[in-house]
Amino acid sequence: MLPEYFEFYMPTRVAYGIGLTRNLQEVTANFGRRKALLVTDEILNRIGTADRVKAGFRETAIQIVATFDQVPPNSTIETVEACARLARQKKCDMIIGLGGGSVMDTAKVANILTVKGGRVEDHMGAYLLGNDELLPSILIPTTAGTGSEVTKVAVITDTRNDIKLPFAETQFFPQLAILDPELTLSMPASLTAATGMDALTHAIECYVSKDSQPASDALALHVIKLIDQYLVRACLRPSDLEARGAMLVASCLAGIAFTQAMVGMVHGISHALGGVYHIPHGVGNALVLPEVMEYNLDTKPERYADIARALGVAYPQPVQTAQAMLQLARADFAARLLQPTRFIDNWLQQATARAGILRIRELLRQLGAVAQLPLNLEQAGVKDNLAKLEQVCETAMVDGSMLYNPREPSIEAVRDIVSKLFIQNPTPLPVKERDLAQAGGQSHKPALKNVFDSSNMLYSVLGEFYQALKSDPLLRDKLLESKLVVQFVYDEPEARITIDASGDDVQIFLGDSYQGTPEVIMSMKADFAHQFWQGKVNLITALTRRQVKSKGNVPKAVKLLPILKPAYELYPRYLEERGLERLIA
Ligand code: NAD
Repeated sequence: MLPEYFEFYMPTRVAYGIGLTRNLQEVTANFGRRKALLVTDEILNRIGTADRVKAGFRETAIQIVATFDQVPPNSTIETVEACARLARQKKCDMIIGLGGGSVMDTAKVANILTVKGGRVEDHMGAYLLGNDELLPSILIPTTAGTGSEVTKVAVITDTRNDIKLPFAETQFFPQLAILDPELTLSMPASLTAATGMDALTHAIECYVSKDSQPASDALALHVIKLIDQYLVRACLRPSDLEARGAMLVASCLAGIAFTQAMVGMVHGISHALGGVYHIPHGVGNALVLPEVMEYNLDTKPERYADIARALGVAYPQPVQTAQAMLQLARADFAARLLQPTRFIDNWLQQATARAGILRIRELLRQLGAVAQLPLNLEQAGVKDNLAKLEQVCETAMVDGSMLYNPREPSIEAVRDIVSKLFIQNPTPLPVKERDLAQAGGQSHKPALKNVFDSSNMLYSVLGEFYQALKSDPLLRDKLLESKLVVQFVYDEPEARITIDASGDDVQIFLGDSYQGTPEVIMSMKADFAHQFWQGKVNLITALTRRQVKSKGNVPKAVKLLPILKPAYELYPRYLEERGLERLIA
């Protein structure tokens, strides 16, 4: 059933790519000249992540004029104030956040202070900025969990009062979010597990939220599938870029989803545990998640059954299936006779939903084994015999997330859940390599740079290669059939090659020797063409990334792509024959 009203607003451009932060020229081209503050933390500075990203910005128009690297986990009011002071002092006109949720949230709230001044507490709340603009921002996550790079919220800790202060402003959406899985390779398994469970919690909570809506529903179910498939694998194989990429995408999609539909009671309790006991956000969410799912189950059994299915739990509905088959066979009367037995489907739905919760419990135990995820509050750092239980309960009850929980949260329920989390003691569940989906990670070799040192070299290598292609009978016939005239305009070094298949023979023109009007013009860097002919890049993706600019009847040219596949093998062979093996990627 559709909600009576919903909005979906996501103004952030999201760019994903393995190694994308190594060169940020293209992706940041539309920002123009900027003086940016880089917000990050000490660990990311120490392990070289900050330097690597700074190097990626070097050839862009964005100049990083100062770095603030003092963000602690669960960032604080004092941190945000110090960060904003630096931005003002250095007269920055852009903020870049590089880190986990703590860094990105600091960047967001420091942006308000830089522009508006005042104290952090003055800006706590929702939509207080009205139409006021903030400095443009870019957020680059290094954990795969919070999705803060695509959310309109931020959370900052008030250490004096042991609470987490919430902020919500549409201006928090950065102009650009950059997802580079390589930046998450350095996460230890414990951080991978905790942050991954944060993303899973976002997806599950927004799917059952009082404010759920079709767009976030679709994202949430896909996120649940991705995390079920990849989280344990990312913990077990830290350098598996496919798993890292899937988790980073899952976290981002979960962020997009939950910033529309919001989160519920899991977050309410976990924020309180974070504020009072300083439990990391992802660990708190992981522990609380299955308990709140149990609490909510009867309110939205059909939604929890969907979640279970996304987690791989089979969901039989025998009566509904039999009825549908009878109706197809025009035996409507027999189908109606089955109606009273629909309770079987309902019962199975409930059982499926319960199996989904069991799957979450199993996942937590697996993460306990492969990533030392704490499985109770004591392991998570509560060493005072839960003396602050009442403070946790009261803090949780006033948390804004509670408003969106499908079932009204009661303080008794919060107390029961937190007490249970303190005394429970599940055993870690070892995971065998063979239980993981698909073996192996993706190897990723950086592309060669400046392959052609002059236009003459390019004409010699690519021009002759096109001549060779045209003597392949299959390619020649297909080209002639297409009657296409396509011109490639290369940059670095500059060159122009036209393939004219409009007549009786395919003709190759170098430079300005072609006098007609090409049907399609494709402009790209020469290195890109070199990669393309080795089958290393996807032209469709390149068009989206604006690595290739096109003019004219592009669909007609793109339709020829399948016939070019054999050429991907010919090109390396051709390079070898010409003694240019060093250029083979
Ligand atoms: P975090 O940012 O607090 O980082 C935890 C630790 O991991 C830090 O010590 C950090 O240095 C380290 N770290 C980060 N990336 C690393 C990497 N690639 N390799 C090695 N170490 C790395 O952790 P988090 O879970 O990403 O963020 C939690 C914060 O985000 C909490 O304050 C939470 O309330 C907030 N949050 C915000 C949103 C939002 O939408 N704004 C959503 C969820 C959570």
